[in-house]
This record gives sequence, structure tokens and C-alpha cells, in this order.
Amino acid sequence: MTNKGLLQTEGLPGIFGEMESEVRSYCRSFPAVFRKAIDWTIWDSEGKAYLDFFAGAGALNYGHNNAMLKEKLIRYIAEDGISHSLDMATEAKERFLRRFRRIILQPRGLDYKVMFPGPTGANAVEAALKLARKVTGRTDVIGFTNAFHGMTLGALSVTGNKFKRQGAGVPLPYAASMPFDGYLGKDADTIAYLESYLSDSGSGVSLPAAVIVETLQGEGGLNAAGAQWLVRLETLCRKHGILLIVDDVQMGCGRTGSFFSFEPFGLQPDIVCLSKSIGGYGLPMALTLMKPELDVWEPGEHNGTFRGNNLAFVCAAEALRYWENGEFEAGLADKSALLEARLKEIAARHPGLQGKRKGRGLMQGLYFPENGVAEDVCRAAFRRGLIMETSGTDGEVAKVMPPLTIDEASLLRGLRLLEQSVEETAN
Ligand code: PMP
Repeated sequence: MTNKGLLQTEGLPGIFGEMESEVRSYCRSFPAVFRKAIDWTIWDSEGKAYLDFFAGAGALNYGHNNAMLKEKLIRYIAEDGISHSLDMATEAKERFLRRFRRIILQPRGLDYKVMFPGPTGANAVEAALKLARKVTGRTDVIGFTNAFHGMTLGALSVTGNKFKRQGAGVPLPYAASMPFDGYLGKDADTIAYLESYLSDSGSGVSLPAAVIVETLQGEGGLNAAGAQWLVRLETLCRKHGILLIVDDVQMGCGRTGSFFSFEPFGLQPDIVCLSKSIGGYGLPMALTLMKPELDVWEPGEHNGTFRGNNLAFVCAAEALRYWENGEFEAGLADKSALLEARLKEIAARHPGLQGKRKGRGLMQGLYFPENGVAEDVCRAAFRRGLIMETSGTDGEVAKVMPPLTIDEASLLRGLRLLEQSVEETAN
């Protein structure tokens, strides 16, 4: 069938430009049809293999068809385990909750109530924003420049991306966008700026219910907040009775090296949003974690049909095995250091492109100041059999985000392909 005359993507940005599609508003970023995938390898319908440095935008931290999770899932289905249960208690849900408390929360000295806000990251953010407003009785929420929190109305209103915001047509509600760490240059004290804004009773600024932050901006260009900046932000929130929401939808589940991205900074956010890789197998699942005293919702006050995906609970509970001892985290530290060193090397070998390494953990990338260079690099990488996406408002960062389970040899092989792609772009 030809696509002629059918609806097209109409200029939606993708690194391969406009592509014809029968599906409106569907941005086909890669010019291939994919069929099968194992761990960090994907095959297209022609049988060509690609290394996956995209990992489902962070939803596949444990790789494609992870053997351990797959076995559990197949057994669960074979035994007619419940697939969908809404708010009913099920064994799969209870098991996940018990294991999450024992393996993740308790060893980290964290005490959160767990709520299932719906299947996606935006659902987790939306619940967090609503909860903060209900608890504090305040309306506004502060987000940051270049932040990304999702496409629903509330999540979008704290997303610092003009293109995405335009999708709502008219101005968005209740959110102020404040400069993120480094946004005004490395010497600007953006926390002091925020403090003066919040303390400015003369201008009649109303205090917000919450501040929502990513410790590392996954979609916004891999901008990492400094440790000091985050700690000062938390202190400022406490001072003004503002709830601190950490959006760990993309950065959580180990992406930056620890289960929660905020662990190295000793933060104790009031609310934490998790999704993407929490479902383990790429299955939709989200959590909104709240400090126990914030549990103010009456049963049913915030609900949703797809909050009870038991297939996701089964995989999610099993995936927590990776966090039972420090081995997986130690491996992540090694691979992150390797990635950092290689990216610095690649950038240094092509000074003409002025590339700069950014990010942390297994979410790092190369920033190229000249328009279109990062996209060219990703396009060249794809031709060589390496799947990568760009990050940043202008797609200025070529982002390396493999499954966390990737072995070192494959990581290095992918980085060699990246290096060749940078070389090709430089010449
Ligand atoms: N928060 C962050 C930090 C994200 O990266 C994303 C998705 N990229 C979301 C929220 C929204 O998640 P979803 O697309 O599942 O709604």
C-alpha cells in the first residue's frame, strides 16, 4: 500500500526529518521497522542488528526481553495469574510492594507510602502535583527551565520546553519556570535568585505548593544539577513549607548509578515520581511515592483503570533482584566511568566540533554547540547499526543511554561506532 494521499506526520521533528506515515502525529524517528530484540540488540525486519543506546527512552534499563524477567512472566501467564486488577489486592501487587519496601526503601532509610497513579510517567507527575496542591492548599508549582515532566496538562505546565508547551495552544496554568542550575551561566546563583523571588512579599508573589525537579534533565539536554544546588533547593523548600518533588521517571531505577538519582546528595524529597523502568520489562507502570503524612486522599479521590497491571508487578518485583546487593551498582559505577572516559576522548579527538561530555551514570552524551551536529551524529550512528537519540531543546546533545545490563565489550563496541559517526560528521 502506498502512503500517498494519506495523512502524514506533517513536519514533526525526528532526526531523520519528515517521514510519511498513515498514523497522524506519530513521529517515526528511525527509518526502519523493528521486529525483535534481546538485551541491548534490536533487529529490523531485514535482519539488520542494531546496538540499542536508546533503551526505550529509559524504559528498558534491564534490557529487551531480559531472560530473568521473561521466565517469571511466562510462568505467571502459564499459571493464569491475574493480568489486570484495578485496585484489588493481588498476590503480585503485594509481593511487589513488600519487595520494594525491603529492597529499596528500608536500606536507604526512606519511608514512603506507595501509590499507583496510572501507567505512565505523566500520571505519576500529575498525581504529585495534585497531591501537593491538596496538602498545602496552595495553587502554583515551580518547575525549571529545560525541564521535562510529561504531556498532560499539569505535567506540561511545569515542563520548560516551548515546542511542547505550544501543543496546549493557550497559556498553561499555575506554574512558574525558574532557572535551573547553570542556566544563567556557571557563576550565577540561581538558588539565591529563587530565594529572593519567594521572599519578595512586596510583589505579592504567592508561595507555591511544590517545586518539581529532575536531578539530571533527561530530555532537556543532560543538564546535571550540582550537589550543593540540590541541597540548597531542598533547604529553601523546607524554609517556605514548599513540598519538594523529585521526578525520577527517567533518572530513577539506576539510570544515574543509584536506584534513586537523588541518593548521592542525601535528599529526602517529599514526593518522588517513578515510571519507565520500574515495570522492568518495558511494561507500563508508575509510582508516586509520598511521605506518610502526605497521604491525605480519600479512597477513590485519585484513581484510574490501568493502575493494576499485574504483569508489570511481576516483572517489577523480579527486577528488584538487581538491587539486592551492591554488585549491580558497582558494575554501573565501572561502566559509567568507562563511558565518561571514552566520551571525553571522542570529544577531544575532534576539537573542530567543540563537543563536550555531559550527564552522569549511564545517561551521558556529547553536546555539540553547532546546530544539527548532534542529529548528524545520531543519523550516522544509525547507519552503522547504533540506535541513539538526541536530547535538548534544539537536539544539541547526542545521548548515550544503553540498558544498564549491557556488558562492557558491547558498551565499548557501541562507543567505537559513535566515534566513527563523530569522525564522519567532522569530515
Ligand atoms: N518525567 C520525565 C523526567 C520524563 O523523562 C518523562 C518521559 N520522557 C516523563 C516524566 C513522562 O513520562 P511518560 O512519557 O511515560 O508520560
